[in-house]
Amino acid sequence: MHEQKEEGITMDLFESFYQGEPPWDIGRPQKEYIQLEQAGEIVGSVLDVGCGTGENALYLAEHGHEVWGIDFIPAAIRKAREKAAQRHLTATFRVLNVLELHTLGRTFDTVIDSGLFHSLNDDERPRFVDNLAAVIRRGGTYFMLCFSELAPVPDFSQLKDFMPKDFMPDLSKLKLEDYKRLQVTQAEIRNSFQDGWRINYIRQATLEARLRPSEVSGWLSSISKE
Ligand code: SAH
Repeated sequence: MHEQKEEGITMDLFESFYQGEPPWDIGRPQKEYIQLEQAGEIVGSVLDVGCGTGENALYLAEHGHEVWGIDFIPAAIRKAREKAAQRHLTATFRVLNVLELHTLGRTFDTVIDSGLFHSLNDDERPRFVDNLAAVIRRGGTYFMLCFSELAPVPDFSQLKDFMPKDFMPDLSKLKLEDYKRLQVTQAEIRNSFQDGWRINYIRQATLEARLRPSEVSGWLSSISKE
């Protein structure tokens, strides 16, 4: 499992963030997902991939969807379950790597992604897309909110403020490509979803965070499985 642990610092970084309060964890749903729900674009059962502490998933559960959320960081899933209990909402949260989605053994009408795809590297992205195909029904739609090349290269030094000192990973191990891969282009999205998918739209969107600036430019994609 978790090869990233040996190969890179992605998982270590996420683990460290969830010992504190990660900057993307804004304590409410991303407004792009509120708008999608209000527009009736989110239909039926929903899987939230890389759900973090579950704000988007719980918002959709509150609005009547059957919702599952998965994330590979146990501390995030623990917080998501606590919030569900506190808010008297029903949602299923599991610790799982998105590269193993097929092991869920079921499909969903809709899959949502807020900030997951852009954190995957070039090897992981096609494996993720294959896994996605296994958990989304034919005609079902994947919504992806990711950073774009129009966003500034993230200033990781700013992120130190969000991590407890004793959980601080060695940021010097981050390579330029770790920063650059967060800036997803429309062409990369189209390339990743060529076979067996229909791209309904890729539109400019914003991701909210507890950083300066508090809103960063990204893409919101709607992609259906053929
Ligand atoms: N969707 C959440 C979290 C966004 S940050 C929100 O909007 O607040 C990206 C999330 O993806 C993190 O919680 C991280 O732990 C998770 N993640 C990254 N790579 C993953 C992988 N390979 N498998 C499962 N989760 C992953």
